[in-house]
Amino acid sequence: MKIYNYKDLSEQKIKELCLRQQEDDRSIAETVQEIISQVKARGDLALFDYAKAFDKVALQKIFLDKQELDNLSQSIPVEAKKAIDQAYQNIRKFHAAQINPEEIIETMPGVNCWREARPIERVGLYIPGGTAVLPSTFLMLAIPAMLAGCKEIIVCSPPQSDGKTNCYLAYCAKLLGIDKIFLAGGAQAIAAMAYGSESIPKTDKIFGPGNRYVTTAKQAIQSSTLTAIDMPAGPSEVLVLADESANPAFLAADLLAQAEHGTDSQSILVCTDPDIIRKTIEEINLQLDALPRKDIAAKAIENSYTLLVSSVEEGMKFSNLYAPEHLIIATEKYKALVPLILNAGSVFLGNLTPESAGDYASGTNHTLPTSGFARSYSGVSVDSFVKKITFQHISPQGLRNIGPTVETLAAAEGLQAHQNAISIRLKN
Ligand code: NAD
Repeated sequence: MKIYNYKDLSEQKIKELCLRQQEDDRSIAETVQEIISQVKARGDLALFDYAKAFDKVALQKIFLDKQELDNLSQSIPVEAKKAIDQAYQNIRKFHAAQINPEEIIETMPGVNCWREARPIERVGLYIPGGTAVLPSTFLMLAIPAMLAGCKEIIVCSPPQSDGKTNCYLAYCAKLLGIDKIFLAGGAQAIAAMAYGSESIPKTDKIFGPGNRYVTTAKQAIQSSTLTAIDMPAGPSEVLVLADESANPAFLAADLLAQAEHGTDSQSILVCTDPDIIRKTIEEINLQLDALPRKDIAAKAIENSYTLLVSSVEEGMKFSNLYAPEHLIIATEKYKALVPLILNAGSVFLGNLTPESAGDYASGTNHTLPTSGFARSYSGVSVDSFVKKITFQHISPQGLRNIGPTVETLAAAEGLQAHQNAISIRLKN
């Protein structure tokens, strides 16, 4: 893990440290374009071919139906079932509180304006399944979709080596009442949900994290289809801001939790105390050895760094520039830092709040903007699955009140027909 000292860094170097890994972006974009064209042209046939090429499996059919999912779900261990049930409850409780009907606002006497939410009708959920199948992502996407009232929920996830999905995803499907999972992964799944194939319906909006093929495909389909995306949610990242009150073993565990996602994940420690930095690096080496995904985590740690800062406020300044997907504030003084946070996907406060809690079960959503997009995007919520439609109603008194203002503005813009739409009513 590289170690930097903030006071020695030029502005240029600080900018560089805020960049995410990008070396082969062009070759990924080319591969993704080719995959999209193939899916557009050949539909399901292309999906079968890519399952063979990338997932190393010869599929007999492109989806698992309710019966198959029910059967697969039977083998879930009791403890895992209980944990998924608990996570489901917490995520549902947190997201249900996001549904708040808005007030009708009388902007002038007789002029009433309001907004109402309507669900996006057909949504596509991508559940990653390359290096690890993520049932937690299934809950994080499907629960707000259902609370929003989306009529049709299409789910894609890469097939596993046996041509199926695992018991955890199957159990989530049962719990959520979703009776089909399409066995498609990567850019081809995104292309299918954007353009439609013989089996997979075209969707109105695609949600979900994934590797760089998935994220690149989501960004590519936006410009050429009427399919929206939630956000660019790519390789995961965490920035931990710590001071002398932090525990190096906890810090190391949090940094490694992020690193084991993928080799292109980033784990950054920004700390005021050189001693804590040194001990954390020692702890990383100790804990790394015991991880089953040691090779992946070690590679990600190699691409990560620590930054020594003179104060937590200086650390926060850097964090706001970096705009991390996950921000852990590992200090007892976390309360004073909250107002200073400008850019972050999801924030974990204090020494006993690991990111893993939010990844799985505390209730908040784990589908979050990466690569600096936390500057301008929010994570997934119930709002992501609805459109907010504005309404207004004008009474006779309201027309007399608002009419002259509209007539004057329309005349100023030279839009006579707009002016007439008011005048003709006022005369009446
Ligand atoms: P994935 O499902 O995203 O990708 C697997 C698919 O990638 C395969 O099915 C295949 O189709 C495609 N693929 C693999 N190699 C390819 C190649 N050479 N050419 C073309 N396509 C190829 O699963 P993953 O790879 O395990 O990645 C999951 C990602 O999701 C990780 O990077 C993780 O950090 C990220 N993640 C992000 C969030 C978030 O909210 N931002 C949350 C969870 C996970």
